[in-house]
Amino acid sequence: MSFTPATRLLAVFTVLLALSGCTAKHQSAFVAPSPSTSPTPSITPTQQPTPTASPKPKSLEWYVAKAPAYEPVQPHPVKLPTNGSPPFWLRVPTQDKVAFITIDDGALARPPAVPDFIRDARIPVTMFLNSPAATEYTPYFKAIEAAGGVVENHTIHHTSLRGKSYAYQRQEICGSADKLEHLFGKRPTLFRPPFGDHDDTTIRAAKDCGAKALFYWTETVDKGIVRYQTPDKRVKAGDVLLMHFRPRLMDDLLAALKAIHAAGLTPALLTDYV
Ligand SMILES: [Zn+2]
Repeated sequence: MSFTPATRLLAVFTVLLALSGCTAKHQSAFVAPSPSTSPTPSITPTQQPTPTASPKPKSLEWYVAKAPAYEPVQPHPVKLPTNGSPPFWLRVPTQDKVAFITIDDGALARPPAVPDFIRDARIPVTMFLNSPAATEYTPYFKAIEAAGGVVENHTIHHTSLRGKSYAYQRQEICGSADKLEHLFGKRPTLFRPPFGDHDDTTIRAAKDCGAKALFYWTETVDKGIVRYQTPDKRVKAGDVLLMHFRPRLMDDLLAALKAIHAAGLTPALLTDYV
Protein backbone atom coordinates (compact mmCIF):
# COMPACT_ATOMS: atom_id res chain seq x y z
CA MET A 1 0.00 0.00 0.00
CA SER A 2 1.48 3.37 -1.02
CA PHE A 3 0.78 6.84 0.30
CA THR A 4 0.79 10.05 -1.72
CA PRO A 5 2.29 13.04 0.11
CA ALA A 6 -1.17 14.55 0.44
CA THR A 7 -2.59 11.37 1.95
CA ARG A 8 0.29 11.23 4.41
CA LEU A 9 -0.36 14.86 5.36
CA LEU A 10 -4.03 14.04 5.89
CA ALA A 11 -3.07 11.15 8.16
CA VAL A 12 -0.82 13.44 10.21
CA PHE A 13 -3.64 15.95 10.50
CA THR A 14 -6.05 13.27 11.66
CA VAL A 15 -3.63 12.12 14.38
CA LEU A 16 -3.04 15.70 15.51
CA LEU A 17 -6.79 16.34 15.66
CA ALA A 18 -7.34 13.19 17.67
CA LEU A 19 -4.59 14.18 20.10
CA SER A 20 -5.94 17.70 20.48
CA GLY A 21 -9.39 16.38 21.39
CA CYS A 22 -11.20 18.04 18.51
CA THR A 23 -14.87 17.18 18.19
CA ALA A 24 -16.16 15.00 15.39
CA LYS A 25 -17.84 18.09 13.96
CA HIS A 26 -14.50 19.81 13.49
CA GLN A 27 -12.83 16.69 12.10
CA SER A 28 -15.52 16.34 9.46
CA ALA A 29 -14.26 19.52 7.87
CA PHE A 30 -11.01 17.72 7.04
CA VAL A 31 -12.57 14.70 5.34
CA ALA A 32 -11.21 14.31 1.82
CA PRO A 33 -13.75 14.75 -0.96
CA SER A 34 -14.90 11.69 -2.88
CA PRO A 35 -12.79 10.62 -5.92
CA SER A 36 -15.63 11.45 -8.29
CA THR A 37 -15.41 15.14 -7.49
CA SER A 38 -11.66 15.42 -6.96
CA PRO A 39 -9.08 12.65 -7.37
CA THR A 40 -6.59 14.39 -5.12
CA PRO A 41 -7.24 14.25 -1.38
CA SER A 42 -7.44 17.76 -0.02
CA ILE A 43 -6.93 19.13 3.46
CA THR A 44 -8.66 22.40 2.67
CA PRO A 45 -11.74 22.77 4.91
CA THR A 46 -14.00 23.79 2.04
CA GLN A 47 -17.03 21.95 3.42
CA GLN A 48 -17.19 23.91 6.66
CA PRO A 49 -20.71 25.36 7.02
CA THR A 50 -20.90 29.10 7.47
CA PRO A 51 -22.97 30.20 10.48
CA THR A 52 -24.81 32.87 8.47
CA ALA A 53 -26.05 30.49 5.75
CA SER A 54 -29.86 30.48 5.47
CA PRO A 55 -31.63 27.11 5.85
CA LYS A 56 -32.31 25.21 2.65
CA PRO A 57 -35.91 25.33 1.41
CA LYS A 58 -37.82 22.46 2.98
CA SER A 59 -40.29 20.25 1.18
CA LEU A 60 -44.00 19.95 1.88
CA GLU A 61 -43.30 16.42 3.10
CA TRP A 62 -40.79 17.76 5.61
CA TYR A 63 -43.39 20.12 7.08
CA VAL A 64 -46.10 17.48 7.19
CA ALA A 65 -43.72 15.03 8.91
CA LYS A 66 -42.76 17.66 11.51
CA ALA A 67 -46.36 18.65 12.27
CA PRO A 68 -47.60 17.13 15.56
CA ALA A 69 -50.43 14.65 15.10
CA TYR A 70 -53.63 15.23 17.07
CA GLU A 71 -57.16 13.96 17.43
CA PRO A 72 -59.84 16.62 16.83
CA VAL A 73 -61.72 17.66 19.97
CA GLN A 74 -65.52 17.47 20.13
CA PRO A 75 -66.35 21.22 20.23
CA HIS A 76 -68.61 22.83 22.82
CA PRO A 77 -69.88 26.08 21.27
CA VAL A 78 -69.64 29.07 23.63
CA LYS A 79 -72.57 31.22 24.73
CA LEU A 80 -72.70 34.69 23.23
CA PRO A 81 -73.73 37.68 25.37
CA THR A 82 -77.51 37.96 25.65
CA ASN A 83 -77.62 41.73 25.00
CA GLY A 84 -77.28 41.04 21.26
CA SER A 85 -74.03 42.97 20.97
CA PRO A 86 -71.14 40.96 19.49
CA PRO A 87 -68.28 40.49 21.97
CA PHE A 88 -64.68 41.56 21.32
CA TRP A 89 -62.53 38.67 22.47
CA LEU A 90 -58.82 38.21 23.01
CA ARG A 91 -59.44 34.52 23.60
CA VAL A 92 -62.47 32.29 23.27
CA PRO A 93 -64.10 31.64 26.67
CA THR A 94 -63.93 27.85 26.51
CA GLN A 95 -62.75 25.11 28.87
CA ASP A 96 -62.02 22.80 25.94
CA LYS A 97 -58.33 22.07 25.46
CA VAL A 98 -58.18 23.93 22.16
CA ALA A 99 -56.45 26.94 20.60
CA PHE A 100 -57.22 28.75 17.36
CA ILE A 101 -54.94 29.51 14.41
CA THR A 102 -55.86 32.66 12.48
CA ILE A 103 -54.19 34.00 9.31
CA ASP A 104 -54.74 37.64 8.34
CA ASP A 105 -54.70 39.96 5.31
CA GLY A 106 -53.84 38.05 2.10
CA ALA A 107 -52.19 40.62 -0.18
CA LEU A 108 -48.52 40.35 0.83
CA ALA A 109 -47.59 36.72 0.11
CA ARG A 110 -49.26 33.38 -0.49
CA PRO A 111 -46.74 30.53 -0.22
CA PRO A 112 -47.86 27.91 -2.77
CA ALA A 113 -47.46 24.86 -0.51
CA VAL A 114 -49.72 26.24 2.25
CA PRO A 115 -53.04 24.78 0.98
CA ASP A 116 -51.46 21.31 0.70
CA PHE A 117 -49.85 21.63 4.14
CA ILE A 118 -53.19 22.63 5.68
CA ARG A 119 -54.91 19.67 4.00
CA ASP A 120 -52.23 17.03 4.64
CA ALA A 121 -51.57 18.02 8.27
CA ARG A 122 -55.30 18.72 8.87
CA ILE A 123 -54.66 22.21 10.27
CA PRO A 124 -57.86 24.10 11.14
CA VAL A 125 -57.32 27.74 10.11
CA THR A 126 -59.50 30.82 10.14
CA MET A 127 -58.57 33.42 7.50
CA PHE A 128 -59.40 37.05 8.18
CA LEU A 129 -59.12 38.43 4.64
CA ASN A 130 -59.16 41.89 3.12
CA SER A 131 -61.67 41.72 0.29
CA PRO A 132 -59.39 43.14 -2.48
CA ALA A 133 -56.81 40.39 -1.79
CA ALA A 134 -59.58 37.79 -1.68
CA THR A 135 -60.82 39.08 -5.03
CA GLU A 136 -57.39 39.05 -6.68
CA TYR A 137 -56.30 35.64 -5.38
CA THR A 138 -59.61 33.84 -4.99
CA PRO A 139 -58.38 30.40 -6.22
CA TYR A 140 -55.63 30.35 -3.58
CA PHE A 141 -58.03 31.05 -0.71
CA LYS A 142 -60.59 28.64 -2.15
CA ALA A 143 -57.89 25.97 -2.12
CA ILE A 144 -57.37 26.61 1.61
CA GLU A 145 -61.13 26.57 2.09
CA ALA A 146 -61.29 23.20 0.31
CA ALA A 147 -58.57 21.98 2.70
CA GLY A 148 -60.78 22.87 5.69
CA GLY A 149 -60.02 26.57 6.20
CA VAL A 150 -62.72 29.18 6.85
CA VAL A 151 -62.88 32.70 5.34
CA GLU A 152 -63.83 35.59 7.66
CA ASN A 153 -63.79 39.38 7.45
CA HIS A 154 -60.92 41.89 7.93
CA THR A 155 -62.30 45.01 6.10
CA ILE A 156 -61.65 46.34 2.62
CA HIS A 157 -58.74 48.74 3.04
CA HIS A 158 -57.07 47.62 6.28
CA THR A 159 -57.27 51.04 7.89
CA SER A 160 -57.71 51.68 11.62
CA LEU A 161 -61.43 51.99 12.31
CA ARG A 162 -61.25 53.54 15.77
CA GLY A 163 -62.70 57.04 15.87
CA LYS A 164 -64.12 56.87 12.34
CA SER A 165 -67.77 57.59 11.52
CA TYR A 166 -70.41 54.87 11.55
CA ALA A 167 -70.86 55.29 7.79
CA TYR A 168 -67.15 54.76 7.15
CA GLN A 169 -66.85 51.77 9.45
CA ARG A 170 -70.00 50.19 8.09
CA GLN A 171 -68.75 50.58 4.52
CA GLU A 172 -65.39 48.95 5.41
CA ILE A 173 -67.01 46.03 7.24
CA CYS A 174 -70.20 45.45 5.20
CA GLY A 175 -68.45 46.17 1.89
CA SER A 176 -65.89 43.47 2.61
CA ALA A 177 -68.51 41.03 3.95
CA ASP A 178 -70.62 41.51 0.80
CA LYS A 179 -67.63 40.80 -1.41
CA LEU A 180 -66.49 37.75 0.58
CA GLU A 181 -70.03 36.37 0.53
CA HIS A 182 -70.13 36.82 -3.24
CA LEU A 183 -66.73 35.15 -3.75
CA PHE A 184 -67.07 32.23 -1.33
CA GLY A 185 -70.82 31.71 -1.15
CA LYS A 186 -71.04 32.26 2.60
CA ARG A 187 -71.33 35.50 4.54
CA PRO A 188 -68.60 35.99 7.17
CA THR A 189 -69.85 35.89 10.76
CA LEU A 190 -66.57 36.74 12.49
CA PHE A 191 -64.66 40.02 12.21
CA ARG A 192 -61.18 41.17 13.11
CA PRO A 193 -60.63 44.94 12.94
CA PRO A 194 -57.25 45.88 11.43
CA PHE A 195 -54.57 46.22 14.15
CA GLY A 196 -57.26 45.26 16.65
CA ASP A 197 -58.25 48.95 16.70
CA HIS A 198 -61.93 49.44 17.46
CA ASP A 199 -64.51 51.44 19.41
CA ASP A 200 -68.22 51.13 20.21
CA THR A 201 -69.06 52.22 16.66
CA THR A 202 -67.02 49.29 15.32
CA ILE A 203 -69.02 46.86 17.44
CA ARG A 204 -72.29 48.38 16.23
CA ALA A 205 -71.26 48.40 12.56
CA ALA A 206 -69.92 44.85 12.77
CA LYS A 207 -73.21 43.67 14.27
CA ASP A 208 -75.18 45.42 11.51
CA CYS A 209 -72.96 43.67 8.93
CA GLY A 210 -73.71 40.23 10.39
CA ALA A 211 -70.77 39.67 12.76
CA LYS A 212 -71.40 37.42 15.79
CA ALA A 213 -68.03 38.18 17.44
CA LEU A 214 -64.91 40.30 17.01
CA PHE A 215 -61.43 38.96 17.68
CA TYR A 216 -58.11 40.20 18.91
CA TRP A 217 -55.34 37.66 19.64
CA THR A 218 -53.21 36.26 22.45
CA GLU A 219 -50.08 35.19 20.56
CA THR A 220 -48.48 36.31 17.32
CA VAL A 221 -46.36 34.11 15.05
CA ASP A 222 -43.82 35.45 12.56
CA LYS A 223 -40.73 33.97 10.89
CA GLY A 224 -41.41 30.70 12.66
CA ILE A 225 -41.34 32.24 16.15
CA VAL A 226 -44.29 32.37 18.55
CA ARG A 227 -44.46 35.59 20.59
CA TYR A 228 -46.45 35.47 23.82
CA GLN A 229 -48.14 38.33 25.63
CA THR A 230 -47.86 36.62 29.00
CA PRO A 231 -44.59 35.82 30.83
CA ASP A 232 -45.27 32.08 31.20
CA LYS A 233 -44.87 31.67 27.42
CA ARG A 234 -47.48 28.99 27.08
CA VAL A 235 -50.59 28.72 24.90
CA LYS A 236 -53.77 28.45 27.00
CA ALA A 237 -57.18 26.98 26.31
CA GLY A 238 -59.15 29.33 24.07
CA ASP A 239 -56.10 31.30 22.91
CA VAL A 240 -56.13 32.86 19.46
CA LEU A 241 -52.83 32.79 17.56
CA LEU A 242 -52.32 35.45 14.89
CA MET A 243 -50.14 35.06 11.81
CA HIS A 244 -50.26 36.60 8.35
CA PHE A 245 -50.03 35.61 4.72
CA ARG A 246 -46.29 36.24 4.63
CA PRO A 247 -43.39 34.46 2.89
CA ARG A 248 -42.67 32.16 5.86
CA LEU A 249 -46.26 31.11 6.58
CA MET A 250 -45.25 27.43 6.39
CA ASP A 251 -42.83 27.98 9.30
CA ASP A 252 -45.42 30.03 11.18
CA LEU A 253 -48.03 27.28 10.87
CA LEU A 254 -45.55 24.66 12.06
CA ALA A 255 -44.44 26.83 14.99
CA ALA A 256 -48.05 27.40 16.03
CA LEU A 257 -48.85 23.68 15.83
CA LYS A 258 -45.81 22.83 17.97
CA ALA A 259 -46.66 25.50 20.56
CA ILE A 260 -50.27 24.31 20.79
CA HIS A 261 -49.12 20.70 21.08
CA ALA A 262 -46.51 21.56 23.73
CA ALA A 263 -49.29 23.13 25.83
CA GLY A 264 -51.34 19.92 25.66
CA LEU A 265 -53.92 21.55 23.42
CA THR A 266 -55.47 20.84 20.02
CA PRO A 267 -55.99 23.32 17.15
CA ALA A 268 -59.65 24.03 16.39
CA LEU A 269 -61.85 26.17 14.15
CA LEU A 270 -63.31 29.40 15.53
CA THR A 271 -66.59 28.72 13.74
CA ASP A 272 -67.00 25.44 15.65
CA TYR A 273 -67.12 27.50 18.87
CA VAL A 274 -68.75 30.78 17.85
ZN1 LIG B 1 -54.39 42.77 9.21
